[in-house]
Amino acid sequence: MTTMTLPVVPESAQSATGEATHVAPVAAVSPLLGTYKRAPMPIVRGEGVYLYDDADKAYLDFASGIAVNALGYNDPQLMQVMRDAMATGLIHTSNLFRTLPGEALAQLLVDRSFASSVFFCNSGAEANEGAFKMARKWGRSMSPDKTRLVSLRGAFHGRLFATLAATDRVAYQAPFMPLAPGVSISERDLTDLDAALDAATVAGVIVEPVQGEGGVRVIDAGLLHELRALTAERKIALIFDEIQCGLGRTGTLFAYEQTGVVPDMVTMAKPLAGGLPMGAVLMNGDIAAVMAPGDHGTTFGGGPFVASVALHVVQRLADPALLAHVTTTGQWFGEQLHALARRTGRVRAVRGVGMMWGMDIVEPAGGVVARALEAGLLILSAGDYTLRLLPPLVATRDELTRGLDLLGGVLQ
Ligand code: PLP
Repeated sequence: MTTMTLPVVPESAQSATGEATHVAPVAAVSPLLGTYKRAPMPIVRGEGVYLYDDADKAYLDFASGIAVNALGYNDPQLMQVMRDAMATGLIHTSNLFRTLPGEALAQLLVDRSFASSVFFCNSGAEANEGAFKMARKWGRSMSPDKTRLVSLRGAFHGRLFATLAATDRVAYQAPFMPLAPGVSISERDLTDLDAALDAATVAGVIVEPVQGEGGVRVIDAGLLHELRALTAERKIALIFDEIQCGLGRTGTLFAYEQTGVVPDMVTMAKPLAGGLPMGAVLMNGDIAAVMAPGDHGTTFGGGPFVASVALHVVQRLADPALLAHVTTTGQWFGEQLHALARRTGRVRAVRGVGMMWGMDIVEPAGGVVARALEAGLLILSAGDYTLRLLPPLVATRDELTRGLDLLGGVLQ
């Protein structure tokens, strides 16, 4: 493999999630559509919290495939579950038939949450689009004008039309105008939300309890309580997008458990099926009651293979020992990041919870991400001057310490 200097690309050229900040020389000849600026080295295998390129260089992974690989790589139990699922000969049946893994997974999610029903799909954006439709149908069941959707400043909810309208990134939206109508963005404060959440016209409001792409911002629990009170009074569906922050990453299975606020819907995806594509919408009985056959659908969603794998993943992520590890180790990790900030003088702010941390730094994040890659550490950006660290949830203190050492060296 040839080594090369990795130029930093401007924000406008960053990927969907802002993390891939390197220009790959192979891109010019790649048949892959150029929607991502990929790092140059092909990743050929993974083990534990490490990825390896084709020259067998190891990369300590504090990105987890953007919050997907919660159990790290080549987890023996996960691999065995996949082999067992394959042995049934069933990868796909369609949603025209009952399948037991999907039903068992839905039951587990219902048992562990506020929800009474679950809809499975194939990605985060799809989960949010589905949630928007469900909120809208619920709103319309009360009044034909109760259809609008509201999201928050700094939000990222996906790149399909309605989710793009709910995503607070003008650069992502501008080339694709007109966006889906009926979606607006409110500031993250009660005064603006109070004005935006008109009872007569708003069906739903969507919130990431911890904003990921928007800079790793833990939304104030007090604000969420106020928002819950407002939405309950005005019969507006409160949707928590837990696609990045959910399924154990904050130290509880659902991020909403940290806040004491129970939403009407939760969307999830990323780690749900251990790296296989899967999304889900969890909803309460009132919203489930308005949805009828034909109202929404997907060919692949919740198929037997992916659901078998997700059943195992959710069981693992719901394990109290794992969640306790995320809580205590995550807190320790946060303290180490604060110490690193003081030591280097290169960090303006440290924010986060569990295994989800952001650092505002004094130089463009893309350059640090590129230097870290050279040093064998994979990290992400979340905005021009913010680094984002999303280690696998199973990462040990020793592994985190190694990453902190690498990061400290790169930041100096
Ligand atoms: N919502 C949040 C909070 C996300 O972080 C993402 C992806 O980064 C999405 C939605 C979109 O998910 P997907 O890329 O699977 O469509």
